[in-house]
Amino acid sequence: MCGIIGIFGNEKAANMATLGLFAEQHRGQESCGMAVNNGTTIKLRKKMGLVKDIFTPEKIMELEGKIAIGHVRYPTRGSSSVYNSQPHIVETLSGPSYALSSNGDIVNYRELRSWLEGKGVYFASGNDGELILKFIVYHVERENLSIQNAILELMKSVKGAYSTILATKTEMYLFRDPYAFRPMSYGKTKDGTIVVASESCALDILYMEWIREVKPAEIIIVNDDGINNIENDPNKFRVTKTNKHCIFEHIYFSRPDSVIFEESVYEVREKIGAIIAENDDLDPDVVVPVPDSSNFIALGYAKYKRKPYELGLIRNHYVGRTFIKPEQTIRDESVYQKFNPLPNFFKGKIVTLIDDSIVRGTTLRKIVKLVRRAGAKEIHLRIGSPAVKNPCYYGIDTPTREELIANNKSVEEIREYIGSDSLKYLTIEQLERAVRKPENFCYACFNGRYPVK
Ligand code: SF4
Repeated sequence: MCGIIGIFGNEKAANMATLGLFAEQHRGQESCGMAVNNGTTIKLRKKMGLVKDIFTPEKIMELEGKIAIGHVRYPTRGSSSVYNSQPHIVETLSGPSYALSSNGDIVNYRELRSWLEGKGVYFASGNDGELILKFIVYHVERENLSIQNAILELMKSVKGAYSTILATKTEMYLFRDPYAFRPMSYGKTKDGTIVVASESCALDILYMEWIREVKPAEIIIVNDDGINNIENDPNKFRVTKTNKHCIFEHIYFSRPDSVIFEESVYEVREKIGAIIAENDDLDPDVVVPVPDSSNFIALGYAKYKRKPYELGLIRNHYVGRTFIKPEQTIRDESVYQKFNPLPNFFKGKIVTLIDDSIVRGTTLRKIVKLVRRAGAKEIHLRIGSPAVKNPCYYGIDTPTREELIANNKSVEEIREYIGSDSLKYLTIEQLERAVRKPENFCYACFNGRYPVK
């Protein structure tokens, strides 16, 4: 999971892109970058660290131009290094000519990279965004295809998830994989600036009029003539086009103030909470979320049960998202730095503790210990997703199958390991009821049915 932003047609493109990246910082905190085009060349700045530290007002002033594309990274493919951060750029004889930011992951990365290397294409990173860029540039520069046809070629050959922005010196191309796994929508400001972003919260911060999501396998070309969209003809196009959005974007990843896949994240999370409550006989004294992504699931649960909803676990926002830290050792230490329980909400009480998911179970085990230490009489764990049993190949850094606790233990064994008094997961059927078009979603990490392999 990463965040992307693209701005076309504004003198303050770098400023706007920085604001957009701020709004998407939750999608990746390891590195960030921006490529800005001033009509003759493309300037690149990318570093390890947060947007606020990398894009200071002084640095933004150095990035002049009307086209800017940006990226915040959370590593999936490629190690934690600046080489793997995005955007990637390619220089031609006339200097830097192409820049690309992408969110997703490529399933047949090795095969395609070897093929390109066999043609003499050089790779500077192990990142899937570079593969996408080099694939397109190879077909444009060496095979004389138009950029649009090179992207079409990419859609036929590359398997996986990619919500992507490609910038040239004069144009911006927006395109999405045929399954539209990761969110991507675009909008317009009153002065005609075009903005594309992973999440609508990045469009809101720029006072943008939201236009719509980029469709599966669609290519949108933005240039001085306006917006031109190309919806690929399925008869000519050799891949199936169907929405298989990542359901975890609604459960956990996206911000609650975003509208993704045409539904409010806040509302979907509340609905999940209500569905859990509807299927739960428990009569708790208090409902407490593991903040932040579970807040709205717990709110939905508490509203349905008409029970007090309390933010009894206080989260230190400066530690970062636990799941996003790349190494287990860093992850473990973060839990105690990150949560502090308020004993008044727990002492002698029957607590429904709500979390969005269980991956390894190590974090939740420590949280349950904290809540127990704060005096809870009973802790009943309710999970806003089904058991995660399979790894994700579409842009989420889930651990291997062996490391996923639900693969090795029964629900009762997981409860015992975590130390709660009871444990209930949402079922896939219940989760499907929380969204308007359940057939449009991927559930592979729960049921192993991968839309593309
Ligand atoms: S496998 Fe899971 S995390 Fe990956 S895209 Fe599908 S639903 Fe999302």
